[in-house]
Amino acid sequence: MNLSERVADLKARIHRACEAVGRDPATLELLPVSKKQPLALIREAADLGFTRFGENYVQEGADKAAQAPDLGFVLLGPLQRNKAKPALQHFTEIQSLDRPDLAERLRRLAEELAVTRPVWIQVDLWDEATKLGGCTEQDLPDLLAALGDAPRLPLKGLMAIPPPENEGAFRELADLRERLQQDLGRVLRLSMGMSGDLEAAVAAGSDQLRIGTAFFGERVY
Ligand SMILES: *Cc1c(COP(=O)(O)O)cnc(C)c1O
Repeated sequence: MNLSERVADLKARIHRACEAVGRDPATLELLPVSKKQPLALIREAADLGFTRFGENYVQEGADKAAQAPDLGFVLLGPLQRNKAKPALQHFTEIQSLDRPDLAERLRRLAEELAVTRPVWIQVDLWDEATKLGGCTEQDLPDLLAALGDAPRLPLKGLMAIPPPENEGAFRELADLRERLQQDLGRVLRLSMGMSGDLEAAVAAGSDQLRIGTAFFGERVY
């Protein structure tokens, strides 16, 4: 199957998922995740109309961004403090903000570099405490305080990678989003759902699907 066939299948699948729960597919963003995929394939996706791509590794994403300055790259993977600067320089958005010290560093550097980068808070409601990262619900207030109202780091929403086979996980995230929206008095988006579980994420109210394999095919490691 070539890329355009695979993307057509994926779009049909997303439409069916939306139809099943009475959602308008136009309200849902499809973010292709291009980690470990060659730039040539990203170019093919760009020809299909996609302009933003998710990447997991700072170096890989920075290299691709340098070669494709017309495209936007979103950082999805864990971010270490010492990579904060290249992350701000090469990515248009950061979805893996998960701790106060990182928020403070990003704030300071964004001022220094005079760049504005929307951020998403990666949450972990399941005590995974894994390499995947994520802020626990308990630690959220500290992170939000560290982020403050930094004009250069506008908060767009919540991102999460729930454990597999956890049917209720997406609902828990949607509930957290509701509560935070009330507390903060602002609209927050939800980035959840990947190749294997997009239907459940759509049903629970995801605003953004991050799709790698079902979009590009298997990754080449
Ligand atoms: C790799 C990755 C994805 C895409 O995963 P697929 O299962 O290939 O769709 C989405 N989000 C994050 C954070 C990822 O690391």
